[in-house]
Amino acid sequence: MTPSRPAPGCPGPRSGSDSAPSRILSDVSETGSLLPKNIRIDARPETPSPQPFPPEDAREKPPTPLESGGAKREIPPWGVLSPAHSSKEGEGEVAGPVGVPGREARGSALGDSVPALPPPPLAWFGDMVDHCYDYAEAAKAQGRPLVGILCEFTPRELILAAGGAPVCLCGGSAETIPAAEQCLPANLCPLIKSTYGYHLLGRNPFLNWADLVVAETTCDGKKKMFELLAADKPMHVLELPQKADDPDALEHWVGEVRKLKVCLEKRFQVTITDARLREAIVLMNRERELRRRLADLMTLDPPPLTGRQLLDFKSLISGIDADLRQYEAALEWYDRPGRSSRANPTPHPTRVLLTGAPTVHGAERVIGLIEQYDSVVVCQENCTGLKPILEDVDPDEADPLRALARKYYHLPCSVMTRNDGRLVSLRSLVKKFRPHCIIDLVWQACLTYDVEAFHVRRLAEEELRLPYLKITTDYSPADSARLSARIEALIETARARAAD
Ligand code: SF4
Ligand code: SF4
Repeated sequence: MTPSRPAPGCPGPRSGSDSAPSRILSDVSETGSLLPKNIRIDARPETPSPQPFPPEDAREKPPTPLESGGAKREIPPWGVLSPAHSSKEGEGEVAGPVGVPGREARGSALGDSVPALPPPPLAWFGDMVDHCYDYAEAAKAQGRPLVGILCEFTPRELILAAGGAPVCLCGGSAETIPAAEQCLPANLCPLIKSTYGYHLLGRNPFLNWADLVVAETTCDGKKKMFELLAADKPMHVLELPQKADDPDALEHWVGEVRKLKVCLEKRFQVTITDARLREAIVLMNRERELRRRLADLMTLDPPPLTGRQLLDFKSLISGIDADLRQYEAALEWYDRPGRSSRANPTPHPTRVLLTGAPTVHGAERVIGLIEQYDSVVVCQENCTGLKPILEDVDPDEADPLRALARKYYHLPCSVMTRNDGRLVSLRSLVKKFRPHCIIDLVWQACLTYDVEAFHVRRLAEEELRLPYLKITTDYSPADSARLSARIEALIETARARAAD
């Protein structure tokens, strides 16, 4: 039986059972998804109905449950969770990979000679899910709540300021979609189906462990899926107004962000002070800045990384000290002349700007298809790329929560109307990254990105004079040959134009 849960809203203080994990990380497959290794990508469950979410009494107990006892808690510091995650590790050296207990660190400290691929910072993020698992486990053991997020509109800073660890729960695996389709329509965005499929199968340890899920009213498919998810998980829904330029809408959003603050305080028995929020803002500003600087490496010709490699430089959990040090190590690495991690680098590859829907962890196939033709995705204007990290929050504003709400409300997502901010952003990114063509990714059944492609095509072809291609696909590799042919034709056109 599926345990009953309150409807979306602000759930009360959590109980020990809310935080019980139901899976362990041996569930992480070699493909990087969060599935057990024995599940085949094309396998559909033989049973007609999906496996129910494990009942609470069947779940494993968390490493050390939070014992709040109803009293306000001390909020532990971020990042420093255990000796394994201590910021002292590697301090003062030119950082190599940061070790994880029980595992050998891959690679060695940076030397003067260029080593075999991948260089250490890439190796660290190659094990990102493992590291996040260890981090989440240590966080739970120290009484820090794990808070699941599903959209870039959710202000991670508030969760950090409440002492929580914000973890992205978006599903990027085709393997979990058949289970979801037992409940959800097949004609729904794969990101929504994959996320819900993970839940039904109980195979995302971070979702299983989450003490709270923060959802938001963005697209219709997500909104309705959240209603189903809320039957099993404590959930708070942020109501996102959708008129990007309306001051009243922004005021409403500020109110919604304040409600989230109250919800986090109530549920986790903490007080989020302005000082604490400012600290979280500084932390996230630093993370955004480091990731922006890494993305800026792609302005070089040739870029030292592939777009696929750059995509790996991010974490499911935000604000992890070890990740931030690895971003710094990567910047130092690539700052040295001759450093490149691109296999078979072409002197002047065709430069591609990718826009549209996010390519979440496990759903990076399209980038691989683009980069098979001596081309590099030099800019990713989407929620897994630059879109959420282009703007910072002013930590010194009189009301830090208002400053936070404003930054997040500026996100140029296709669910907003009008979403002119995306076109403004695209113009400036084209100027900076100098792409030869633009590819617009639309996940199947994503109406907002699909319709908005009209504006993006017009911008690309009529104003920027760049070849443009819209790709509509899902997580299945079935259409890879067809997509490859269309991408190849676009790259050929872009090359011919560049040669003129
Ligand atoms: S594309 Fe829009 S709905 Fe999707 S994660 Fe980004 S902001 Fe959220
Ligand atoms: S890609 Fe589109 S349909 Fe899918 S979750 Fe994002 S906005 Fe919704």
